[in-house]
Formats: sequence, C-alpha cells, structure tokens
Amino acid sequence: MARCLPCIACGRELKNVDRDADENQPYAGTAFTSHGHYGSTAYDPMDGHYLEINICDLCLVTHADRVEQGRDRRPILEDGPLGPNTSVVGWDESVRWRLVPWNPDARTYDHVLKVAREEFQLVFEDEPDETGGNGNDAD
Ligand SMILES: [Zn+2]
Repeated sequence: MARCLPCIACGRELKNVDRDADENQPYAGTAFTSHGHYGSTAYDPMDGHYLEINICDLCLVTHADRVEQGRDRRPILEDGPLGPNTSVVGWDESVRWRLVPWNPDARTYDHVLKVAREEFQLVFEDEPDETGGNGNDAD
C-alpha cells in the first residue's frame, strides 16, 4: 500500500481512495506531478525523475483564482449510446487548448464543503450547532 501524501498547502493528512492502492491517490484531494521545467530554481532534472504533490480539494477551491485549466486530450468512448454507463476506451491526444481561468461552479463548492466536513471534521464559524458549545465563554 502506497503512502498518501498530505496536502502541500495546508498540511492536512489525506487518505488513499483505495486502501490497497499501490499509488498515491487521495480522497478529497488531487495529485499533481511535474518533471520540472526550465525556469525552476528548485527542480528541473531532465532525466525522467518527477515530483508528485497532493492538494486537498478545500485548498484547491479556496484558491481557484490561482488555478488555470487546459485540455490536452479528449475521451474516446465505446460504441453505443452516450450515457452514465458509457466506457472510455482511449484518448485522442490531438487536442491542445490553451489555459483559461478555472471556475468551479456552486455545486462543486457545496460538494467540497460537504466532504470536507465529513473527512476533515471541519467546523465553520457560521454553524454554531457544530461547535459542541453554546458560544458563551463565561461558562
Ligand atoms: Zn489543503
């Protein structure tokens, strides 16, 4: 079983989606890899080595204004009607869209917050019922 890396931004411990997985595949987070690049003063080995980091979903959506989205491939679907049970059988890598700002929708934020409450036992200030107290420090 592979170790699941913590979030590089906030340090939260993350768990692998599959306990028996042999790779870093976080639940409520995303793994990113880089082979380095020209311009980095920290990492550019140019020999096939790469770095991998995790960012929890809460940090990702909190800083969505710092994230851009591109597209470099399109799924090739099996024959048959397009639907929830359609399988991806390959990838067309001829797609090269430039980067644009990433704008997650309200449903994405709601889902991330719901999972964060469960997974990270988060308590938000606007939810006094979850603090376990009555908010009165004079007790
Ligand atoms: Zn985080």
